[in-house]
Amino acid sequence: MTSIGFIGLGNMGGPMAANLVKAGHKVVGFDLSKAALDAFAGEKAASAAAAVKDAEVVITMLPAGPHVSSVYADHVFPNARKGALLIDCSTIDVETARAVSRAAAEKGFTMLDAPVSGGTGGAAAGTLTFMVGGEANAFERARPILEKMGKTIVHTGPAGNGQAAKICNNMILGISMIAVCEGFALAEKLGLDAQKLFDVSSKSSGQCWSLTTYCPVPGPVPSAPSNRGYQPGFTAEMMLKDLRLAQQAAAAAKAATPLGAAAAGLYALMEEAGMSKLDFSAMALFVKGKRTPD
Ligand code: NAD
Repeated sequence: MTSIGFIGLGNMGGPMAANLVKAGHKVVGFDLSKAALDAFAGEKAASAAAAVKDAEVVITMLPAGPHVSSVYADHVFPNARKGALLIDCSTIDVETARAVSRAAAEKGFTMLDAPVSGGTGGAAAGTLTFMVGGEANAFERARPILEKMGKTIVHTGPAGNGQAAKICNNMILGISMIAVCEGFALAEKLGLDAQKLFDVSSKSSGQCWSLTTYCPVPGPVPSAPSNRGYQPGFTAEMMLKDLRLAQQAAAAAKAATPLGAAAAGLYALMEEAGMSKLDFSAMALFVKGKRTPD
């Protein structure tokens, strides 16, 4: 049994922390939201400081970089036990992840950035993919804990490389979804049935996850959000967040990512069209000039 302080019990953190409780760990949780804290099955702390003070491992699952910087600087570093292993699972920018990791090292802590993919379904089922940046021995320490929340755990290199893997993967996903949506929109104009295009492309060189697992038009893949009015899933808003992080990293690294930039632009337009809370596969509507499923 490990004693774990868990900060950020939202849509992802809540079920992740619940899986750690189920696995028999002592989990002390904290969230600024009373509703999120009330729903938590483990021990509820009155503050972030109280959640981390006796923890051997601290896990955070927060919205964005500024939350991570301030929670670590103001609450975790001043209150965590000497030698505690710190794991941030939020999706944030690479530079902030590296800066917080450096600050942790200066205070004598070991830190990992361990963002996830797999969504709320994966968080509930304990089947997330973890992309982990940081030192190899810290990764080995973290692995048995992460295995209680995920199925695939990959050490992607030094600090920040977990976030780098996450934004590169999501940039691929954001672009590939648009490509699939354009393909189906063109098929419709050409009088080609969506199911027929699926039958061909899912077995041909156009095959990809956006098509075969998350098909953006209703019908071919019954479990996809397109069959439930594009209820998320993974919102267009979150995809836009990740694409902007990718653009920020690309600018800092002087990397040319023209399709990533175009994808960010299209999801931003979707947001302006009032579609940000729909699943990102609602891009299938947007590329046809539609705003709602009907
Ligand atoms: P969420 O908004 O549901 O949860 C974040 C929680 O953090 C909230 O409950 C909020 O009250 C809490 N919080 C914010 N500031 C805090 C503070 N200072 N102290 C304590 N609690 C604080 O978001 P989420 O969907 O759980 O996402 C969390 C992270 O995971 C994000 O970085 C997101 O990009 C990433 N992510 C989400 C998904 C998804 O499908 N939802 C998938 C992969 C990655």
